[in-house]
Amino acid sequence: MRIVSGIQPTGNLHLGNYLGAIRNWVAMQDEWTAKGGECLYFLADLHAISMPHVPAELRAGTREMVAALVACGIDPKRSILFNQTQVPAHAELQWLLNGTARMGWLNRMTQWKDKAGKNREGASVALFTYPVLQAADVLLYQATHVPVGEDQKQHLELARDIAQKFNNDFASEEAPVFTLPEPIIPPEAARIMSLRDGGAKMSKSDPSDMSRINLTDDADAIMQKVRKAKTDPEPLPSEKEGLEGRPEAANLVGIYAAMAGMSQADVLSQFGGQGFGAFKPALGELLVEKLSPITARYRDLRTDTAALDAILADGAARAKALAAPTLERAYAALGLLRG
Ligand code: ATP
Ligand code: MG
Repeated sequence: MRIVSGIQPTGNLHLGNYLGAIRNWVAMQDEWTAKGGECLYFLADLHAISMPHVPAELRAGTREMVAALVACGIDPKRSILFNQTQVPAHAELQWLLNGTARMGWLNRMTQWKDKAGKNREGASVALFTYPVLQAADVLLYQATHVPVGEDQKQHLELARDIAQKFNNDFASEEAPVFTLPEPIIPPEAARIMSLRDGGAKMSKSDPSDMSRINLTDDADAIMQKVRKAKTDPEPLPSEKEGLEGRPEAANLVGIYAAMAGMSQADVLSQFGGQGFGAFKPALGELLVEKLSPITARYRDLRTDTAALDAILADGAARAKALAAPTLERAYAALGLLRG
């Protein structure tokens, strides 16, 4: 059993990234390694260049993301944590799979249609072939399972189609080159909204720093941001239906529930009838308690370039070793002569 999952590297991570993405990785790592499975987690920096990007930000963001992942609980010993670029087999296998993938298949990808929009002629070729790189990312390791959200289901189907056609065309039934990976649907991720506007997602690109809790914020900053978070004048309702039409209140209750590992209903049965004067300090304290170990490690690690690069070098070496046999078999199956 082997899981492979990638995330685009970004810097300036915040509570939304933690609750919406990173925390699921940590839970998956703990669950799968406990039953003898393996988790490969990589920073999808090659994917990041399919859209306009700033090179210096990508470089810094890649290290920052490693720091955040480790600070949040990804254990680089138990999991294989690496940067895609440092394992050239990803790019190599993508090229090999380009011979198998069909234009018609890629043309049907809704993410391509959405991201290219009306300007298909101006979109990068990388954006078009992105799903083939994703197929390479998982097929390279004989992944048995791949966590996929709703928006990635189609890409996993494509990876299976590519694997199947490659196996049919170039391998015998008894000795297929690629494993067809199964999807696993991760638990529904929390969607965290801005502290200043319950209708906008918490995001690193929001110009207001008060809109988000950064993973670098200290206890004072967290308490202050929660105290100043936008709310309405009503007390909290006792039941979930009472949060309808109150996006800011719903967001704070949602954050409390996610951080405490409680249901929203349980949070409301505890705090229903109380005003924000009571709820906000409780939420602030909970956030400080749960986040301080993470934010402290993150602040230390993100500036420790040597430690981060060592983690990446070790992860890349282990990933390369796992990838090598499959890559060689793919080259050989295609009749490509290697020295
Ligand atoms: P940008 O504003 O540049 O889009 P961002 O803050 O939205 O940045 P991303 O780099 O787009 O962050 O997202 C990284 C990961 O974090 C993705 O898996 C994304 O779904 C998740 N994520 C980002 N913001 C939130 C949020 N507010 N709530 C839940 N998950 C989030
Ligand atoms: Mg985003």
